[in-house]
Amino acid sequence: MTAESIQTTTGAAAPSELGRTLIHEHVLVGMPGWDLDGMAPRFVREEVMARAIDQMQMLADLGVETFVDPCPMDLGRDVEFLAELSQKSGMRIICTTGAYFEEGGITYTFRQLSVEQITEIYVDEITRGVGDTGIRAGAVKIATGSRSVTDYERKLVTAGARAAKATGVPLISHTQDATCGHDQIDIVTGEGVDAGRLLVGHSDGIDDPAYHRSLAERGAFVGFDRFGIAAILPDEVRIRNVLRLAEAGFTDRILLSHDSVLCWLGRPVPLALDYADVLAAMPDWRPTFLLEKVIPQLIEQGLAKEDVDRILVDNPRRFFSGAAATT
Ligand SMILES: [Zn+2]
Repeated sequence: MTAESIQTTTGAAAPSELGRTLIHEHVLVGMPGWDLDGMAPRFVREEVMARAIDQMQMLADLGVETFVDPCPMDLGRDVEFLAELSQKSGMRIICTTGAYFEEGGITYTFRQLSVEQITEIYVDEITRGVGDTGIRAGAVKIATGSRSVTDYERKLVTAGARAAKATGVPLISHTQDATCGHDQIDIVTGEGVDAGRLLVGHSDGIDDPAYHRSLAERGAFVGFDRFGIAAILPDEVRIRNVLRLAEAGFTDRILLSHDSVLCWLGRPVPLALDYADVLAAMPDWRPTFLLEKVIPQLIEQGLAKEDVDRILVDNPRRFFSGAAATT
């Protein structure tokens, strides 16, 4: 199925309008329990909004037109914040439905609900909107943990695939330690969704070109979407592996991003007390890094210049429209 329009936080857009797209970034993230942490620095909405508008302006100056924030619904997702940010900054922002992996998410309710009930919730967020906001999800987030897929995760990924099939939106995944990408493809295609509608996220977390290639060979998009996170892998390795996949003929399956987080809610990760601390600890982990530093290095090391917009413009458009489907 190809989609004639894509839902953004401020309404529908045609696939041809997306332009340069960052496929996996975050504005707000709060890990489970963040709202119980009374000792955390206060979330001052106006301050974070102002910082986010500045960031979107910097991205617009680099030619970015669309920002996809696949925040799981249980990780502090705030679609009204995103919609307001989109209106104030002019950046097109896409949000997602779908919950996080078992160990990292808020699991009680969805553990009790059936796959049919969860599918219904996801479809409702795509077709009618999140809560009473009228803001519709433009994709489904799915997530699995490290090395094996739990029953809970299998149920949610199945529900995500069914919701994607019913509505025509694509699926953006989280993988843990760059494992279980093939399990995700198995479940999603097993529900009748083409692998070309799935982005296997965080696949750049392992220095294993054969793994990347095996995902692309099945038709899925391969996410090199954690540029700037040196604690997982140095960016030289990501760059090398992007080039290897392109040289193997799979440029049309590559998607690039940072998985950056503008504002951590609560105190979920040891380093993230405020954004200045994050940048001090991880100076390259910001959503401008790809266009400022990585793309020039990719070109220097052999990526054809015309492939830059194939990856940053054409691939997101084909991913969202369904034109990248393998059948
Ligand atoms: Zn993420």
